[in-house]
Amino acid sequence: MKNSKVFLNNKFLNLSEAKISPLDRGFIFADGVYELIPFFQDKAFLLDKHLLRLNKNLSEMKIENIYSNDEWRSYINKLISYYDYTNFYVYIQVSRGAPKHEEEVLRQHHYYNEMEPTIFMYVSEINLLPEDKIRKGFSCVTLDDLRWGMCNIKSISLAYNALAKNYAKEREAFETVFVKKGIITEGSSSNIFIVKDNVFYTPQLNNYVLPGITRGYVIEEIKNLDYQIQEIDISIDLLEKADEAFLTNSTQFLVPISSLNKKIIGSGQAGKYSCELYEKFKKISRYS
Ligand code: PMP
Repeated sequence: MKNSKVFLNNKFLNLSEAKISPLDRGFIFADGVYELIPFFQDKAFLLDKHLLRLNKNLSEMKIENIYSNDEWRSYINKLISYYDYTNFYVYIQVSRGAPKHEEEVLRQHHYYNEMEPTIFMYVSEINLLPEDKIRKGFSCVTLDDLRWGMCNIKSISLAYNALAKNYAKEREAFETVFVKKGIITEGSSSNIFIVKDNVFYTPQLNNYVLPGITRGYVIEEIKNLDYQIQEIDISIDLLEKADEAFLTNSTQFLVPISSLNKKIIGSGQAGKYSCELYEKFKKISRYS
């Protein structure tokens, strides 16, 4: 990534030339949102849905979206033209920007409506998890969900998610699953699904669950396959007794869960429904 091209406020620069003010509210207040758009076999996956979520999140945060969807697409296309990866993602971050006037320089929580957002994009390769590991499944741990109450917004305020991911790493687990008052919300960077008695379940959307783009896609795939799916409150007990469980997110698509807090889930490896959905993804990600 040393001298890779990045995008910063309408310019394509080498990473070392990209400079952002330390007074930027993204840095001072984590006042911004982000998106991560995956490309598999060089093709954007669900780009329109990602741009729609970005637009929605910016409007909820009252940050102006200064680009039309066509402008976003053209900047993204130009940025990726500097790279020759096959599977990769484009990270987009939009913060409220840096204060322009001296009187605003003092740290003030309120913002000025005329602030110019800081828009930053970079590209990174996606290293897909090897298929044999997917079939074995991955261990997870649980942690109290102590995040702020607007997790439905893809905010750059991810300190607790970072602590949670590290909590998993320290325990040699793949992911930390958040639990709020005995109910599963989501993973530190993923949504969660379970299968019980041939029915799929996933936590219903609320302010503690990000409406994952992969989650939405997987729900549609489950329906297309004529399986039942319900969006409900999933207790930790139900997760522990599930026949199968898996995580979804944009970079890995689907990751089967083999154990939770060292207790085996289902067969202790990827279940048949997880494998069926994963096969669909393999067609998108591994073969053109
Ligand atoms: N929840 C959280 C907290 C996440 O960080 C992510 C990944 N960004 C997801 C869910 C999955 O969302 P998506 O499918 O859009 O990547």
